[in-house]
Amino acid sequence: SRPVRIAVHLHPYGDGRRLLLSRDITQLEQAEAMRRDFVANVSHEIRTPLTVLIGFVETLQTLPLSAAERDRYLGLMARQGERMQRLVQDLLTLSRLEGSPLPGRQDWVSVRELLRHCHDEARALSAALTQGARAHHIAFPDAAQAEAAGQVAGSAGELQSALTNLVNNAVRYTPAGGSITVCWEAQPGGGARFCVTDSGPGIAPEHLARITERFYRVDRSRSRDTGGTGLGLAIVKHVAQRHGAVLRVASLLGEGATFSIEFPAARLRAARELSAAGTA
Ligand code: ADP
Repeated sequence: SRPVRIAVHLHPYGDGRRLLLSRDITQLEQAEAMRRDFVANVSHEIRTPLTVLIGFVETLQTLPLSAAERDRYLGLMARQGERMQRLVQDLLTLSRLEGSPLPGRQDWVSVRELLRHCHDEARALSAALTQGARAHHIAFPDAAQAEAAGQVAGSAGELQSALTNLVNNAVRYTPAGGSITVCWEAQPGGGARFCVTDSGPGIAPEHLARITERFYRVDRSRSRDTGGTGLGLAIVKHVAQRHGAVLRVASLLGEGATFSIEFPAARLRAARELSAAGTA
């Protein structure tokens, strides 16, 4: 149990009496500490690529370089710029998600379309990361299964980004030649579960509980190499919560990981309900 912090204030009356006012500021202080941590993290995340970028500019200005060397430096500089761009993009997404509730009117989003888009992205990302080495084995539900999954109520953009994020992480953290399996399963009680299982390095128990925190990474350099901002899972968790869904992670070190999002029945419309409604 944590210590409780109480702020005490003595309010004077003119006649010499005093009123003792006390307030529990534990939560206030915790929120303030979190805010400070966050600002420190953001500053650090921006400063690192900026330092590299400025270093390259100075190199270009001072060293006589061949055209090929100059091109190489410009390429590296572009990568640092893109990294900052992704970071700002993710920060804006996170602040939007935290600042406003899901709009009352929502779309019925086709699960088949969500999965199709994830699949396309995963293949492209795998090709880009493995570059001629053995690609990943990527398995998705087949067309009939995807069709039967029906629709989810919510924001198409947010749902797509959450699902894509989990699948892309599986590709990014699984070495070339490894496998990634995506499922959409009906659950008892009418809910459904989206899951991504990979054959990657897995996550040790001491990290497991923390990896959805903003900027928490198990391996900073691996995350950076594959373009990570450290905000992806925090965004996925928010999107899940906003949709009444739950993000879960199961993993054993050295034995891959399974990330899943469990949607409640109230958010789902199965394909057979759709066709029943269509013929009614
Ligand atoms: P990042 O941009 O660093 O990938 P995320 O929030 O998406 O940020 O993930 C946080 C951390 O969780 C990652 O840095 C990585 O250490 C770990 N992680 C995420 N997905 C996986 C996975 N499929 N296998 C192993 N580790 C993972």
